[in-house]
Amino acid sequence: MLLLQPDQEIAWMAPYAYAIVLFGFILFLFRVFENWYASKYNKPLFRHYWVFKKLPKVQLDIIEKEFEFYKKLSEKHKRQFQHRVATFIAEKKFIGRENLEVTDRMKVLIASAGCMLSFGRKNYEYSLINFILIYPKEFYSAINDDYHKGEFNPRERALVLSWKDFEQGNKVADDNMNLGIHEFMHAMQLESRQSKDIDAVRFAKQFQNILVQLTDQNVKNKLDETRYFRAYAFTNQYEFMAVLAEYFIESPMDFKRHFPKLYSHTQKLLNFTFAGY
Ligand SMILES: [Zn+2]
Repeated sequence: MLLLQPDQEIAWMAPYAYAIVLFGFILFLFRVFENWYASKYNKPLFRHYWVFKKLPKVQLDIIEKEFEFYKKLSEKHKRQFQHRVATFIAEKKFIGRENLEVTDRMKVLIASAGCMLSFGRKNYEYSLINFILIYPKEFYSAINDDYHKGEFNPRERALVLSWKDFEQGNKVADDNMNLGIHEFMHAMQLESRQSKDIDAVRFAKQFQNILVQLTDQNVKNKLDETRYFRAYAFTNQYEFMAVLAEYFIESPMDFKRHFPKLYSHTQKLLNFTFAGY
């Protein structure tokens, strides 16, 4: 037990109390500045404060061997990517369905797809996803009584993937089909509607720009003539963004040549300025 007279106690605490108030105030100013910067320059001031997590060698080997995007990153970005993938794997629960055994390779490649799409963001963790459910192949979905290759189910906080189709999307790099990117974009878009952080605000702003582009008669004509985006994109705004992300990731130069403004808004929405994008 330590008994102090009230005045002694205050005298002892005073320097600390000042420091705490000052620190809080500086933090507040920094947050204000960070928000101002993100809205003015369309990108976060910092994507990282600290980068320290490492993957076990067996997992890092898989990325280095099989994930093309990673190979094109600078050393600094490689460290950031590794940190993010390690965080993702630690925080999400991976569950195999229909007796599928979840392997390191599955975890690493799925986490890498998610972290690639969110690599330009500060908030990269997909807060609406807790579970990654992996089926061996197409699976029956009660939602619309049909077989699915993937879905994002916000109520169950689950991203559901057919491993066969995920792998296919990852392996064939230029056919504009990428199941992982597609489903992660659904999760990112919904989170952006519900959240108010700097990445969500940027998403909303660029999404509006994309919608405006789609009402432009010249763009409409060109979409009709070229049939560049596959028809499924025009199902609704969510499918459009998911398909847009697939095209952006898989064939950026082609996309840019056909629709430079749409490309530019998508690039800003993702803050994607790495590895030749
Ligand atoms: Zn979809």
